[in-house]
Formats: sequence, structure tokens, C-alpha cells
Amino acid sequence: MNNHSFIPYGKQSLDEEDIQAVINVLKSDYLTTGPIINQFEEDVAAYVGTKYAVAFSSGTAALHGACFVAGITEGDEVITSPMTFVASTNCILYQGGIPVFADIDANTYNIDPAEIAAKITSKTKAIIPVDFTGQPCDLDRINDIAKKHNLVVIEDAAHAFGATYKDRKVGSISDMTMFSFHPVKHITSGEGGIITTNNKAYYERLLAFRSHGITRDRSVMTENHGPWYYEMQFLGYNYRMTDIQAALGKSQLKKINQFVEQRRKYIEMYNQSFAGTPQITIPYQKDNVNSSWHLYVIRLNVDLLTCERKEIYEALLAEKIGVNVHYIPVYQQPYYKNLGYKEGICPHAEELYQEMITIPLFPAMSEEDVNCVISSVQRVINKFSKQVWTYEDFSNYSSKNGVN
Ligand SMILES: *Cc1c(COP(=O)(O)O)cnc(C)c1O
Repeated sequence: MNNHSFIPYGKQSLDEEDIQAVINVLKSDYLTTGPIINQFEEDVAAYVGTKYAVAFSSGTAALHGACFVAGITEGDEVITSPMTFVASTNCILYQGGIPVFADIDANTYNIDPAEIAAKITSKTKAIIPVDFTGQPCDLDRINDIAKKHNLVVIEDAAHAFGATYKDRKVGSISDMTMFSFHPVKHITSGEGGIITTNNKAYYERLLAFRSHGITRDRSVMTENHGPWYYEMQFLGYNYRMTDIQAALGKSQLKKINQFVEQRRKYIEMYNQSFAGTPQITIPYQKDNVNSSWHLYVIRLNVDLLTCERKEIYEALLAEKIGVNVHYIPVYQQPYYKNLGYKEGICPHAEELYQEMITIPLFPAMSEEDVNCVISSVQRVINKFSKQVWTYEDFSNYSSKNGVN
């Protein structure tokens, strides 16, 4: 029996400095749209190495803004991964666009560029690659495909703050990149998100979009009634981030490198412990990228187990391990099924969904917590392992794992 308390799959790390930063805003003149929001945007832009950043009330709102400024409207197709949170594709629907799902690579679990290329039609307007678990997609190939077909790339990097791709910071590579500051992500502002970009036109439209489509820039106004005059030029939303949130985000940003390092240390512990366990496939690590490890996803080799994923999941929960599943392929959600999406569109994603479990990973875990998770996983896997492998088990296992 385990004496430890429940270990969640993810959790924020806040310190006194973060708390003080929020208190300072509460005592100041502005609770929202004050000076801190700009400072936070400048800090994030400097960190990833872009000219501009626009903060939003959530990562989802930020994605909606990116879809709007990319010009996605009624009937436009946008290619994305099914192995993601529903926000990555809901933002397409908000604009009347049509999500087109391209399957993932069976090893990296990221969207497969060849599948993207195969799904392009005359209606395709944009690509939303998702850097799953913090490992950047094949961004050069995706951006090349986009250039060739005149498509906008909106990178969903909700998992990948702090990651690098060929020594370039994620956030500086695609036309627009979205980061989320939800508490389970790398840094938090409570709720919040941001778009980073080098494109001035996108930047200006994103600023207006998050505040009703209103501009106060005289040089672009069509009329001028006097000094009080502002102008609403298109239908935007109230998607503003408060200064309270921005202060928390700005304070958290100072610790990003330390947070990512802590995550990397723990995934090394996990990788080393599970590498010799044939019942588990550990995450694939690509060359020339440096994942920032939002999630640690293990894949079960069900051929070697006496049960399905569900039993393993329940046994781990009973050991007070906060397991999770990331993700149910988006088009398997009832809302998407009702839109006409059918089973079988993306077989790799569907197969992965049946076998995957997310185990706890966050900087505030102790090494003891990590060891606790490791021994629980090993105990549960041992309990449900086939004691004798049949010839068929072995050949299934070998073919899946490239063993001859
Ligand atoms: C968290 C997340 C989002 C949405 O971010 P919110 O800030 O929660 O709105 C979008 N995409 C992915 C892949 C995410 O994990």
C-alpha cells in the first residue's frame, strides 16, 4: 500500500515572488490593460526571439485570433492533428472553417508532413501543427509545404514553451505561434495565452481582435470626430488578458529555464527506468530538437499484457498516481461525429489512443514522487504481464519495435 498523497499529472509551481507580483497589481491603478500587459508581451517576444507578441485571455482565444487574422472564413479548410486538445480545432469552427485531420507519425506522434501534403485542396487556407507533449513538429518541412501552397502556419505550441527546433526557439519559426498559460502548462497566468509573430500586419489585427475590433490608431481610422474618438473596424471580442494575469505570467517567465530543466531531469529518470520494460514504449526523441516536455506519455504494448489499457489506468489511479490520457482523437468527440467525421480517418492516432497513458510530470514534483510513480508503474505492469510469450506475441512485438 502507498503512503504518499495523490500525485497529479501536472500542477503549477508558484513562489512568494509570483504572489507578490500579483499583490502589487492589486494595489496599483490598473487591474487590466495597464502597463504590465505590454511588459509581459515584450518579455515573451524577447524570450522566443520575435518582434511581436499579443497576449489573450486564454490560449484558445489566442488561437481564435490567429485564425481570424489568417483570414480563415466560411468553408476554408485547415489541416491539423487529431492528437490534440479540442481547442486546436474548435478555433477553426469559430471562424466557419473546416478542420481536416492529417494522421500523426507512428513514432513521434506529431502530425506527419506527408499526410498534410496529401490533404491539401484548393480550399486549404492554413495548417495548425501541434507540438505534441513539447516535442516540435517537423517545422521546416511543414513551413516549406505551406510556402509552396501559400498557406498560413499557426503553430499550436501550448505544450512547447521553452522547446527548440534546430537551435531555434519554438515561437520564432512559424507565421504565428500560440502558447497557453493554463496552470498545467510550463508557466502560468491562471488562464491566458499568447501569439508570437514577426508579421506586423498580423500583430496589429490581433491587438484589435482581442478588443472588439477597435483601433485608436489615428493613421488607420476612416473618420475622426474628435479626441475621444475610437473606431470599431471589424467584429472582434473581449479576449483581453488582465494585468493581474500578466503580472503572474511575467514573474513565472523568469523561471522557465529552470522549470524545463527540472522536467528534463525527471524524464531522464523515467526513460532510464522504463527503457528495459518491453511492455512499455517510452517517448521517441527526435534528433535536432529539444523538447520542453509538457507531458510524459507511455505507450503500452498490449500484446504483452493480460489486460487492456483501462485496467492499467485504474490500477495506477488506485495507487494514487494521477494518470490521464492525452488525447481522445478530436474527431471521435460526439460533436465532431455529428459534423460527419468518421472512424478510421487517422489510424495511427486511433491506435495510439487505445494504448497511451500520461503519467505525472511537473517541476514541483520531488525526486521521491518520481520514484514513487516509477515503482507503481512497474508494480502494475508486472501484475498484468503475460508470464509466457507466444510466438505470435513475440513477432508482434518485434515488428512493432523494429527488432529482427
Ligand atoms: C492547453 C491547450 C490549448 C488551449 O489553451 P487554453 O489556455 O487552455 O485555452 C490548446 N491546445 C493545446 C494542445 C493545449 O494543450
